[in-house]
Order: sequence, then C-alpha cells, then structure tokens
Amino acid sequence: MIMLRDLLIDRDVFLDIRRKAIDSDENSAEEIELLEKAVFKRLKKKRSIKKYKKLGVTKADLKEIIELADILGLDVLDGPSNYEIAQEHQEWCTICGRCCRESESIFIHKDELNVLLTFNPDLKDGIIPNKQYPGHYELKDIKPCKYIDPETNRCGIYDSRPQVCRSYPLVLIDSGGKTRNIINLRHSCNYSVMLILEKSIILFDEAIRRLEQG
Ligand code: SF4
Ligand code: SF4
Repeated sequence: MIMLRDLLIDRDVFLDIRRKAIDSDENSAEEIELLEKAVFKRLKKKRSIKKYKKLGVTKADLKEIIELADILGLDVLDGPSNYEIAQEHQEWCTICGRCCRESESIFIHKDELNVLLTFNPDLKDGIIPNKQYPGHYELKDIKPCKYIDPETNRCGIYDSRPQVCRSYPLVLIDSGGKTRNIINLRHSCNYSVMLILEKSIILFDEAIRRLEQG
C-alpha cells in the first residue's frame, strides 16, 4: 500500500535528507518527538482522518507528513519557503520570551559585529568571542539574555539585536555551499509548532490531491 508521503517525495530521497538533517540538527530526538506530537494534535483537528479513510489515509500518514514538514522546505515543491511562511505569520509568536530565556548561545556572525556596534556601542561589553565557532562572537549574558525585559518579554535592544534573534525560529544554515532557512524544532515555541502545522496542511492537501487524481 502506498503511503501518502510517497506521493510527494521518493522514500530513499526522504530518508537521505532526514539522515543529513538529524546529523546536523541541534534539536534532540526527544524535543522533535514532543513538537511532532503537538503538531499531530492540531493537524487532526484541521484534517479529518475519518473523511479520508476510504482513500486509505491513516494516522501513520499524518505522522509521516509532519516528519516531512520538519525537514523539507516547501519551495522544492513550488510552495512558499520557510521564510515566506514565517514572515506572513508573525502573529504566531506569542512573545512568551522562551527563546530569549532558554537559548544555549546567541550567535553573532563576524560580519555583523561592526554593524551592531555602530548602532549600539554599548553592546561592546556584552559580546564575547564565540566558544564553539572561532572567529565569530556571541552574547555574554544568556539564559536569560540580559536584554530581555522580564515583565514584557520584549527585547531591550530590539533595533540592534543579532541576526539570529531577528530570524528566530528560523535558523540560517550552510547547505552544500547554499544558505537556507530551517526551522528550530522547539515544542515550547508556538511559532515553530504553527510553522510545521501550516507546512503539514499544505503537504497533506497536495498529497490528497495527487491521490485523488490517481
Ligand atoms: S519565537 Fe517562539 S519562543 Fe520566542 S517568543 Fe515567540 S513563541 Fe516564544
Ligand atoms: S538580544 Fe533581544 S531578541 Fe536576542 S535573545 Fe536577547 S532579548 Fe532576545
């Protein structure tokens, strides 16, 4: 029996991309499992398995679609990129402040250092050489970041915050010489959960369309 995801991507290609994503991913397997559970719960409310049961769609199909949404940018299927979806839906950020309180490191690329310091010379005392990536930098006082307002969860240096903060929950990575935005798969970040949900819905609907067309 054909699984729904196989209508979207060759299984061997998927397994290869997944293996590479897991090798390079900072998210733990446990974290990804929790995020996928959160997305699964919401996806079941949006797309009925019962309705599509006669076509052979199962819970396992929904789970596979979510797994695909974790790692595949929809631009490869002529859909919107992670960046485009995130930009369209900034309301998904609940301003819970977890990203500013819990991040293990706030990365600063060597090329953005001067720009940041030009906009905000006071940052000089808050930036140190990056321990993991020599030649680059990071914020000094984190977990929580010292710039977060504890009452409003707003950033105290919003206009001169590092690029990683501007992009979150997307993370820019170097992939075979090209840069692309991947989603930081955090179950505690509503923005991440909603991004994966949105992608899963698009993928699910496209797979059903292909299934119905035969
Ligand atoms: S990006 Fe996510 S973790 Fe950060 S404030 Fe928004 S919802 Fe919370
Ligand atoms: S610099 Fe601002 S956006 Fe970045 S982690 Fe700190 S408080 Fe959050």
